[in-house]
Amino acid sequence: MASIEEKRHTLAHLLAAAVLEKYPHAKTTIGPVIENGFYYDFDFSGGEAPGEADLATLEKTMRKLLPSWKEMEGTETSAQDAYDQFKNNPFKLELIDEIEKRGEKVRLYTAGNFTDLCAGGHAENPAKDIAPDSFALDRIAGAYWRGNEKNQMLTRIYGLAFDTKEELDAYRTQREEAEKRDHRKIAKEQGLLVFSDLVGSGMPMFTPKGNVIRSEIIKFSRELNDELGFGEVHTPNINKGELFKISGHYDKYKEDMLTVHSQYIEDEMFLKPMNCPQHTQIYASEPRSYRDLPIRFSDFAVLYRDERPGELSGLTRLRSFSQDDGHIFCREDQIENELTNVLSAIQKALATYRIDYWVRLSLRDPEKKEKYIGEDATWKKSEDIMRKLLVEKKIPHKEAAGEAAFYGPKMDIMAIDAIGREWQVSTIQLDLNMPGRFNLEYITEDGTKKTPVMIHRALIGSPDRFMGLLIEHYAGAFPTWLAPIQVKVLSISEKHVRYAEEVVAELKMANIRAEVDNSNESLGKKIRAAKMQKIPYLLVVGDAEVATKTVSVESRDAGKLDAMSVADFISRVTSEIKERK
Ligand SMILES: [Zn+2]
Ligand SMILES: [Zn+2]
Repeated sequence: MASIEEKRHTLAHLLAAAVLEKYPHAKTTIGPVIENGFYYDFDFSGGEAPGEADLATLEKTMRKLLPSWKEMEGTETSAQDAYDQFKNNPFKLELIDEIEKRGEKVRLYTAGNFTDLCAGGHAENPAKDIAPDSFALDRIAGAYWRGNEKNQMLTRIYGLAFDTKEELDAYRTQREEAEKRDHRKIAKEQGLLVFSDLVGSGMPMFTPKGNVIRSEIIKFSRELNDELGFGEVHTPNINKGELFKISGHYDKYKEDMLTVHSQYIEDEMFLKPMNCPQHTQIYASEPRSYRDLPIRFSDFAVLYRDERPGELSGLTRLRSFSQDDGHIFCREDQIENELTNVLSAIQKALATYRIDYWVRLSLRDPEKKEKYIGEDATWKKSEDIMRKLLVEKKIPHKEAAGEAAFYGPKMDIMAIDAIGREWQVSTIQLDLNMPGRFNLEYITEDGTKKTPVMIHRALIGSPDRFMGLLIEHYAGAFPTWLAPIQVKVLSISEKHVRYAEEVVAELKMANIRAEVDNSNESLGKKIRAAKMQKIPYLLVVGDAEVATKTVSVESRDAGKLDAMSVADFISRVTSEIKERK
């Protein structure tokens, strides 16, 4: 059976064949496989070009041709023969020229009556291997020949392709849902954060509303840190290069670090990309005994990484962000207990956010040892400890070689959001390297000196990025404890404004984030506006409510509730917030 890559690759050829049947003047160029499908670039400058409306017809033509593609026959040929065959196609001539210069053989593949220049990797029997309803043409875009803007603009036709129609349908549904949930769109609608060209790309600024959510995320992580026995520290954003030379970041990570210059001192300095090296210095600031361990530091400092501008998008990739970061310095006999406790805290956090997950055990790439610091034996030991823990605790996990940090293996928690997409969030990393590089030590029971073990961990990762995930996961309908505005009080008419304001004042006294809508709009309009903002509770107050000192409650998630006293409503919402339901 053909692999999905082979099918997608074959479909790119099939698209080219269909295009040539409908647009004989078209010149074929290249057609690679991409995530979820394939594309093919054409030059239509010699005549009519298809538009989006023509994709359905092209798709039909592909399905008509498919049964006749019973094999894709490959032949090796001389460059001269290939030049002759493609003499009217300057794009293919350029490719053939390059193949010849590399000293490689020119290969041609034929299916039906279509021949293309190609290195191979097709479905053996396309007619049998490819389900005719498992692919679809998706969209048309412009693209420069070989991605170079100095070259001619070509027409790119994108296709989606999966093993089955069900997978294709599921992908399309997920994509539609993802567009509706796009955190950049929802953050704008709800006024949660802004980016400014003057401030710089990849550096979000949270509005008062957005900062409520961000602060609630941090507050929850702080509570979990307390339970785990962490002491929160506060550390600066700029550090000397020397620190990162010792930690190893200077050698392995420098490209991702932003430099800072002082007018007074010569030292090379950097905006810090992580907190670990600094925490080693707090540890090293006084003598430590085996009885003091584990020592645990947490930190919410803002970090900076020099991401490529083209890769920045909303909150998913940022130049400035914080982490709910923490480091544990412990003895070897304490590793398992510490890892277990941190893992339970992460499980508790994700359960509260109602997020599913699996664990990726990220190991060193044994083929590329030069990318990492530390001895083979140390790596084996750390990797074995983590693997054993996951197996013993029966936690679903997959191993991934090459995904480790440069100083040690990791357990990466892969969150699965409401529409089935994966996001890497939390991480636990075992590091038997960095403490030695900083000469960290503790006095053992028998008075000798030993190097502690370091565990790097985040609970939900970056509160900023996590907020992007949450916006999409909840589609903007935050649970009450996270919602920037938890309750909106709507007065039916001017007569009820005073009572509405009294209710809001009482809610605020009970630490509930409440707002009043006293505008002159109709009640219907006020309700629609509040629902657009996905506010968890709407309270309507009119004559009846004023007379009985009650509120009419409409819950976003549970619908209309019976009228209740303000005190009853407060106790309901307060417990919901406290339990983070
Ligand atoms: Zn091919
Ligand atoms: Zn760290």
